[in-house]
Amino acid sequence: MRKTLVIIFSVLLSIPSFAWGPEGHRIVAKIAYAYMNKKAVKQVDKVLGKSGLVFWANWPDEIKSDTIYPNSFDWHFQDMEAGLTDEQVANMLTDYPAVGGNMFRALDSLQILLKDDKTNFDALRFFAHISGDRYCPMHMGHLEDKGGNTIKLKWFSTPTNLHRIWDENLIDFRGYSYTEYAQILIDRFDGERKAIEAMTQEELTINNYHITSAIYAYNDLGDTNTYHYAYRWKDTLDKQLFIAGVRLAKSLNEIYK
Ligand SMILES: [Zn+2]
Repeated sequence: MRKTLVIIFSVLLSIPSFAWGPEGHRIVAKIAYAYMNKKAVKQVDKVLGKSGLVFWANWPDEIKSDTIYPNSFDWHFQDMEAGLTDEQVANMLTDYPAVGGNMFRALDSLQILLKDDKTNFDALRFFAHISGDRYCPMHMGHLEDKGGNTIKLKWFSTPTNLHRIWDENLIDFRGYSYTEYAQILIDRFDGERKAIEAMTQEELTINNYHITSAIYAYNDLGDTNTYHYAYRWKDTLDKQLFIAGVRLAKSLNEIYK
């Protein structure tokens, strides 16, 4: 019998907010596998199947219109006001906002569920996915534009929006497979892994908010429809994907120890 998740939900938003696209979530999962210890890999694969983190990486997005978890839509993001102080941002990790999403609460709740029952299939699939979303800059976008979803832009002449540019367009533009992309990021950033593992969740969340603020400020210059945009932001994108993988591995190593 399917186990159900008990999480307190907030109201649904009417405009879709996506996640790292399918490629992004597979990259995060692949990086996580590289940094999980053998015990964690064995236990996670026992629950999800071999390479299950990759196989199920996008399941929480795929079921958004299904009836099994109808309230899970807003677990994927936490939109915020512009111009918050670092302290205000950090406080949201414990004093969950009443509006703009439910990402922080969902992650905490899922982690508790998993610590209580490490074989909870759905909790693990949600936790792995949303742990990745947490480092997608536009998943901490501004309330007023629904995380960039209402900022209509063009990406090489194709209509898109600021949210989607960061979830999918920038990643797809690189043209790597998810395995190639993950390996390139591991080769490039492995030396920074320990420092990323040592960061507190407050520091990482504040860092994320600063990145999101910089993306908004740059967007005001209005050159998203050029090669220059991808060139300007590719290092930021790559680092966020790497951080997401490292931190997912760290969480799973702690849960499945
Ligand atoms: Zn998502």
